[in-house]
Amino acid sequence: MTQSNVAFLPFVKPEIDEETIQGVAEVLRSGWITTGPQNQAFEAALSAFCGGRPVRTFNSGTATLEIGLRIAGVGAGDEVITTPASWVATSNVIYEVGATPVFADIDPVTRNIDLDKLEAAITPRTKAIMPVYLAGMPVDMDRLYAIARQHGLRVIEDAAQAFGATWNGKRIGAFGDLVSFSFHPNKNLTSIEGGALVLNDDAEALLAQKYRLQGITRTGFDGMDCDVLGGKYNLTDVAARVGLGQLKHIERFTAQRRALARAYFAGFEGGAAVGLGVGLPVADFANSNWHMFQITLPIEKLTISRADFMAQLKERGIGSGVHYPAIHLFTLYRERGFKAGMFPHAERFGATTVTLPLFTQMTNDDVARVCRAVNEICAQYALG
Ligand SMILES: *Cc1c(COP(=O)(O)O)cnc(C)c1O
Repeated sequence: MTQSNVAFLPFVKPEIDEETIQGVAEVLRSGWITTGPQNQAFEAALSAFCGGRPVRTFNSGTATLEIGLRIAGVGAGDEVITTPASWVATSNVIYEVGATPVFADIDPVTRNIDLDKLEAAITPRTKAIMPVYLAGMPVDMDRLYAIARQHGLRVIEDAAQAFGATWNGKRIGAFGDLVSFSFHPNKNLTSIEGGALVLNDDAEALLAQKYRLQGITRTGFDGMDCDVLGGKYNLTDVAARVGLGQLKHIERFTAQRRALARAYFAGFEGGAAVGLGVGLPVADFANSNWHMFQITLPIEKLTISRADFMAQLKERGIGSGVHYPAIHLFTLYRERGFKAGMFPHAERFGATTVTLPLFTQMTNDDVARVCRAVNEICAQYALG
């Protein structure tokens, strides 16, 4: 049943207001378009959002994570424990700084790293832990930091998906060790591309600035020095202006996403999908920022593959995505010794998850339409 009369519903779409578009035009006309005053204002606003902690911006969330590892002193010979159910950037950056990623399997309910397994994976070579808050759902932050304290480990939070999320009323980023955000267009707050690192003190903030731009510090009016090996990771003022425009709306964005997530739960309640065993996320409307709404398919009870399921959604005018195939099954990771079967929960999640549409300009009717489609496909392709 094709609904050609209804507009295609993508799974994600950024909301950029006219004031921001106007602001970007002003930056472009201003004569200064790379890192400058907009960036300073963006960093100040992000810092205020994160309880006054120092914040430095970068040109991607990946760069932000990599510099976070460098600031934590992670390098050759070190192990960093993380989750295999994430975007591959999470563990690629660990290799990038010369260290070794050690995966701990996920809890299939929260879909985040299982903190018992994380603790069991600690060795004398473990230098840091890098939790990911999949779909914007934090791990148990109290337990996470208790483990880090007990074992003397640095934490680099891959909070790429968790901007605006909270833990017991405290914002992610407003407490803890190093916290990394991404502002990719699919994330809850975007600067087109970009990222931000929340730091502990001014010394770390200065180091972040050096790593961000060729290791350079200015000395006096005409001098400069380079004393660490930095790269080229600075954010443009055009991007910073987009981020500033977004930040004004972040509380509304989060509230709308939580409301849409509630609508999903209502829409699925008692339907064919849940009856067949479709898995829903944890129903948390206080902590999660609902970056994504991800279901898991009971693939052994369906006569179609996940790809065909997604094609069926598309035929009904509904976009969907996969976030994410288990990292350790990628070729690069297999070549480095990882094998199928090592992290069964992440593997099953990666093979069966489907990300449904969730973005601020969606309506409850859109959600209802997605739920109907999922129920319909499940009923139609259920094994007899
Ligand atoms: C998006 C994302 C990243 C990378 O951020 P970019 O801005 O795309 O470089 C890293 N980790 C996770 C969990 C992400 O979702």
